[in-house]
Amino acid sequence: MSSAEELRRRTRELLAAHPPASTDRLEFLRARFDAGLAWVHYPEGLGGLGAPRSLQAVVDAELEAAGAPDNDPRRIGIGLGMAAPTILKYGTEEQKQRFLRPLWVGEEVWCQLFSEPGAGSDLAALRTRAVREGDEWVVTGQKVWTSSAHVARWAILIARTDPDVPKHRGITYFVCDMTDPGVEVRPLRQITGEAEFNEVFLTDVRIPDSRRLGEVGDGWKVAQTTLNNERVAIGGMRLPREGGMIGPVSKTWRERPELRTHDLHQRLLKLWVESEVSRLTAERLRQQLVAGQPGPEGAGMKLAFARLNQEISGLEVELLGEEGLLYDDWTMRRPELVDFTGREAGYRYLRSKGNSIEGGTTEVLLNIVAERVLGLPAEPRTDKDVAWKDLAR
Ligand SMILES: Cc1cc2nc3c(=O)[nH]c(=O)nc-3n(C[C@H](O)[C@H](O)[C@H](O)COP(=O)(O)OP(=O)(O)OC[C@H]3O[C@@H](n4cnc5c(N)ncnc54)[C@H](O)[C@@H]3O)c2cc1C
Repeated sequence: MSSAEELRRRTRELLAAHPPASTDRLEFLRARFDAGLAWVHYPEGLGGLGAPRSLQAVVDAELEAAGAPDNDPRRIGIGLGMAAPTILKYGTEEQKQRFLRPLWVGEEVWCQLFSEPGAGSDLAALRTRAVREGDEWVVTGQKVWTSSAHVARWAILIARTDPDVPKHRGITYFVCDMTDPGVEVRPLRQITGEAEFNEVFLTDVRIPDSRRLGEVGDGWKVAQTTLNNERVAIGGMRLPREGGMIGPVSKTWRERPELRTHDLHQRLLKLWVESEVSRLTAERLRQQLVAGQPGPEGAGMKLAFARLNQEISGLEVELLGEEGLLYDDWTMRRPELVDFTGREAGYRYLRSKGNSIEGGTTEVLLNIVAERVLGLPAEPRTDKDVAWKDLAR
């Protein structure tokens, strides 16, 4: 429905009715959601106006110019980038009404209970069991590497509901209440010293059937929506020029001429150009998204993001010499949000190691690009037609 002009008008009406300077932050965000200006491409009544996704920029620019608060997207990345599009596509009307507003305004943080000790790249091998008892599912198992579980109210969860069929077919997708007494969250410390992720133990957690997303046994299909969106969320972030990992090293280069060498100059130039190409490609990908759900192309962006972050942060440490090796804060922080480029060079170098693992490893994404984008022959899969319970472990 809405044109750019119409959206501008609605945004100005919102600002007039709720002046940012004198309105409570949460109140403003709720009003923005209710006015359909949260994510304009979502349906009316769910924070949007069914408008083209590209018009979000019109709303954002008006709000930014007026000094309006945002919903701190980095803090609620899993909810915004993964849970919301999955709920929108597969949720019931009641689920959409219950979850999307507090998710978008940031009142409720989400986490992702997918990976398990024996099921990461081979996620469909997961063992966490959900057994139906009347109107409820009783869930028992262990999840691992769960980012933000320590601050999350809700989780998107996949569990095995039928061990007698091949692994991809016996999985169901749920929304899990992280405040349930059967949910235990334990910190896992990373190479940076921080514990931004966790182990999560689920013991007889009772999930009402009304919190199932999609059909019983369809969880793998539902999870594809989450995973495709995850890659775009990680690799396709909107950035200004020099906004990502290339920013801090470029700044140091300009401010500290005494550190420069010819070799480092050549490498920095190459990485700068590649960063810019990657940034513009992400912009193009976002424009493609206007036309529909993300496809395997998101895998390509995520691959570029991981490689560049690791090469650039390595170059930065080299440029800084001994200074770059200083990393003496080993406090076990429990960050609420992850900022890949935050803090000092040593942190960036260490944290970027995880970029080629989280959201799908580089090797597995290369397989996806090979098979689904380039159409190359698939890897041999011997377990496709074997019941999950009969698979060799
Ligand atoms: C910082 C961080 C945050 C994370 N957050 C979350 C989260 O919030 N929720 C969640 O559910 N998970 C999360 N993960 C988990 C992540 O998705 C898994 O670590 C990842 O999918 C890899 O699984 P794995 O660790 O079991 O490694 P494995 O699957 O055991 O892989 C080990 C190695 O084998 C390679 N390999 C595996 N299969 C193939 C293949 N077919 N071909 C070629 N090579 C292969 C891999 O590339 C890798 O190098 C997070 C991980 C990190 C690092």
